[in-house]
Amino acid sequence: MPLQEFPYAQGQLHCEGIPLTAIAEAVDTPVYVYSATAIRSNLRGYARSLATVPHEIRYSVKANSSLAVLALLGAEGSGFDIVSGGELFRVLRAGGDPAKVVFSGVGKTRDELRYALENEIGAFHCESSQELDVLRAVASSMNASPAVALRVNPDIDAKTHPYIATGLREHKFGIAVDEAESLYRDAGSWAPLRFTSLSCHIGSQIFDMQVFQEVLGQMLELATKLNRSAGRICTIDLGGGLAVGYRAEESSASIKTYGRMLSEAFRGTGFRLGLEPGRSIVGQAGVLLTRVLYRKPAGRKTFLVVDGAMNDLLRPALYAAHHEILPVRQDGGPQVACDIVGPVCESGDFLATNRALPPCDRGDLLAVATAGAYGFVQASNYNSRPRAAEVLVEGDTFRIVRVRETREDLVRGETV
Ligand SMILES: *Cc1c(COP(=O)(O)O)cnc(C)c1O
Repeated sequence: MPLQEFPYAQGQLHCEGIPLTAIAEAVDTPVYVYSATAIRSNLRGYARSLATVPHEIRYSVKANSSLAVLALLGAEGSGFDIVSGGELFRVLRAGGDPAKVVFSGVGKTRDELRYALENEIGAFHCESSQELDVLRAVASSMNASPAVALRVNPDIDAKTHPYIATGLREHKFGIAVDEAESLYRDAGSWAPLRFTSLSCHIGSQIFDMQVFQEVLGQMLELATKLNRSAGRICTIDLGGGLAVGYRAEESSASIKTYGRMLSEAFRGTGFRLGLEPGRSIVGQAGVLLTRVLYRKPAGRKTFLVVDGAMNDLLRPALYAAHHEILPVRQDGGPQVACDIVGPVCESGDFLATNRALPPCDRGDLLAVATAGAYGFVQASNYNSRPRAAEVLVEGDTFRIVRVRETREDLVRGETV
């Protein structure tokens, strides 16, 4: 916030040049609406601020895996960080370059490893010695010699929500630094695997540049030390994690500041920098557009029951996350305290609580802001609700990039 690509004009909230009312009319609600310009400019922001150091940006697919978003980023030259075989399938379907794909995650199956090897992805970011064993076996059987990074767990507190912190020893992610050191020392014995890089990812929604500075210092030091003894580490991948502002008064962490800090630290080290930004590319670039079904006064507060729910956007229920609620029709009327809730049969089904909003009633449209990351990707069919449509806006045009699910879709693959 504030959202440059979602301006009010003529009393109406827009995405770029398109009034959101036009999208609701054409596609119905709930619907996710993304700004292509915002996505592209965030990616370019990284590229620009890192121009002076050799680097690779691997967009983290799990933040928003819509084919249209992946295609847009791929066309800009982005690589991809995937965490499942399904995400690789999406990247390939969207025309992404497999050579620019890195595969992270603690639980890659043999089948997923084989699928990724068949498609000759760029590197495997491995998280345990057992995973290395399995990867070595599968790679040997295919005469492949994949590039590997060990994902180390730097034991650094990301100072973020506990569910999205990943860099402490107590978390399931990564390999402890001392174990990683001994694995790299024995790199030769892991042939045909090639240990070419080092990676980490300490968590998400991180504002504190000092935290990044600490990680980056530790990773540079570790890679240098390992290269002195045995390794041939060329790339250091620092993962994703840069925060976006979810509250009206809160700015996003600056991509430019972060990029400059990284450039300065990497310049002259001889290491390539890898980054896996997700949220900071797409978070601010999307809203969930929803319509008020009922206004329901209850004692001192008012419930606005809307057609979007926790199955469409889980973040408020899952992390007690805050999303700003923007009335699509700008109205200077007196404000009322509202809870914005969905139709799902759970008291945890809310999109926002205790928000001062101008009077809203049946049929009015609301935009749930900053819903581009970890929004649609976490959607489910809970309560047998078809998943929402997705729309990509660019300038004065918009495209439906995913149609709303139908009732038939709800029972696909089932038998009585
Ligand atoms: C989720 C994830 C990311 C992206 O994190 P953001 O906070 O969305 O930037 C990057 N790398 C890995 C390994 C991840 O699991």
